[in-house]
Amino acid sequence: MRELNQRIRHLEMPERMHNLPIDDRGFPVPYFVAWLDGRPEFRAFDGEKMAICVRHKRCWLCGQPLGKYQVFVIGSMCAVNRISAEPPSHRECALYAVSACPFLTQPKMRRNEVDMPLESTQPAGLMLKRNPGVTLLWTTLKYFPFKAGKGVLFNVGDPKRVEWFCEGRPATRADVLASIDSGYPLLREQAERDGPDALVELAQMHSKAMELVPS
Ligand SMILES: [Zn+2]
Repeated sequence: MRELNQRIRHLEMPERMHNLPIDDRGFPVPYFVAWLDGRPEFRAFDGEKMAICVRHKRCWLCGQPLGKYQVFVIGSMCAVNRISAEPPSHRECALYAVSACPFLTQPKMRRNEVDMPLESTQPAGLMLKRNPGVTLLWTTLKYFPFKAGKGVLFNVGDPKRVEWFCEGRPATRADVLASIDSGYPLLREQAERDGPDALVELAQMHSKAMELVPS
């Protein structure tokens, strides 16, 4: 097994993740990551693995069977519209990801799409292409996949527990409010295009999400 990157060596990796391959930089490669020409492409996911995760209730991050509690790793806007482009994981794998994943721990890191491989699977539906800054672990007992365009999206269901993170630490109320305020106009623009009913529904979803913000 390759050495882990110095930045994440101090973190305790869940047992279930021990079989994941380690990339050149020393980061474990999550189960969902697509492999292109023998190299992991972190910005793309493998459509076949998504089907396996949903059909056979496997963890998106480690690929092992899930239990009763299923945890979505989502951005703050997903707490408003309750839609995720990715299926759920184990809580311990999700907790490891919010501390170890460079994309989730460094909000200023932009998604680099300049050399995005063309054939890779793009998330279905409206995907907000900004680094969310704040990440939540949304624990649920039941979720609902639905078709969107050529792909699949997930309604994350009602939360049993919501945990907020920012830069690898628990997020403050101010972090969460800043993240929601910066993303919400994008959802509102979309709802404006969809009509008055969509705007009313979005406002309701927004106030429901605000109840989940840490005090
Ligand atoms: Zn897992």
